Amino acid sequence: YQAKKSGNSCAIYTSDMGLEGVDTLELENDLHQAVEHHQLSLHYQPKVNLRTGQIAGCEALLRWQHPQRGMIPPAKFIPIAEQTGLIVPIGRWVIEEACRQSLSWLAAGLPPIRIAVNLSARQFRLGDLAETVKEILDQFGVSSDLLELELTESMIMDDPERARKTLHELKHLGLHLSLDDFGTGYSSLNYLRRFPVDSLKIDQSFIHDVTTDPSGASVVASIVDIAHNLNLNAIAEGVETRDQLEFLVANDCDAVQGYLFSKPLPVPEFTALLAEEKCWFAVAD
Ligand code: C2E
Ligand code: MG
Ligand code: MG
Ligand code: MG
Repeated sequence: YQAKKSGNSCAIYTSDMGLEGVDTLELENDLHQAVEHHQLSLHYQPKVNLRTGQIAGCEALLRWQHPQRGMIPPAKFIPIAEQTGLIVPIGRWVIEEACRQSLSWLAAGLPPIRIAVNLSARQFRLGDLAETVKEILDQFGVSSDLLELELTESMIMDDPERARKTLHELKHLGLHLSLDDFGTGYSSLNYLRRFPVDSLKIDQSFIHDVTTDPSGASVVASIVDIAHNLNLNAIAEGVETRDQLEFLVANDCDAVQGYLFSKPLPVPEFTALLAEEKCWFAVAD
């Protein structure tokens, strides 16, 4: 046995658990307290409209400020939250927090902005998602038009008929729906056309290859076409370079998100950005 001290608790583990397992166990324990102890926050990243050059909405991204370990990225703790079921209360908190933020920006006299929130598979599978979302919107008095939900292909292809029902309920409330990381899962186009989603977010791996690899470029151009043929918006994620941006403009993509414009920002910085009513580039007619 080895013993490891963390804070005021002493965890004992066997050597065959490996560091990874211990880490996960510790994080799992700490995650239970994260909401209560106000260690979670949302950062916001702008989406830029390619026709106007103006902000077209934003995505809320979860951050965990761990008291000893500092900032832990979502890739590290979302899977744990998902496995343990903690993602359900955390996911609810994320929607509530986005609503609180929305009200706070409106109260400050800033132009209304739609906030997109990521959903987890487990949250989506629960069955009462639409009811929960409606309850939160009513409680805060936030217009459903200001909330967008990002889902992934695997979440809906898991049980397409049930997903279709849930999506229709959410759509009926007036929410915007988008498919995140599009192209990395395997959506059936036949389902896609019958699902009431508003946008496809092209996965950043394809955007990365757009200027270096002809097949990467055709994938992106094809997804934009599919989106437009189905009357959906095409949004590119992970746009980092001017060349990528130019390709996306030339290929009629509707909006972009990425470090080229802004990283996800803490509330004060994002608020300042909103107040600027910034135009990222001049619009060519
Ligand atoms: P996602 O929803 O696809 O979010 C986009 C990720 O790409 C974010 O990572 C964002 O910071 C990053 N990103 C944005 N622009 C660029 C860029 O130009 N280059 C590169 N390399 N990356 C860029 P982040 O914040 O670490 O989040 C990772 C994933 O964690 C998200 O992917 C989402 O799947 C999940 N996640 C984040 N917040 C939540 C949440 O509140 N609930 C759930 N269920 N999942 C969340
Ligand atoms: Mg997302
Ligand atoms: Mg994504
Ligand atoms: Mg992703």
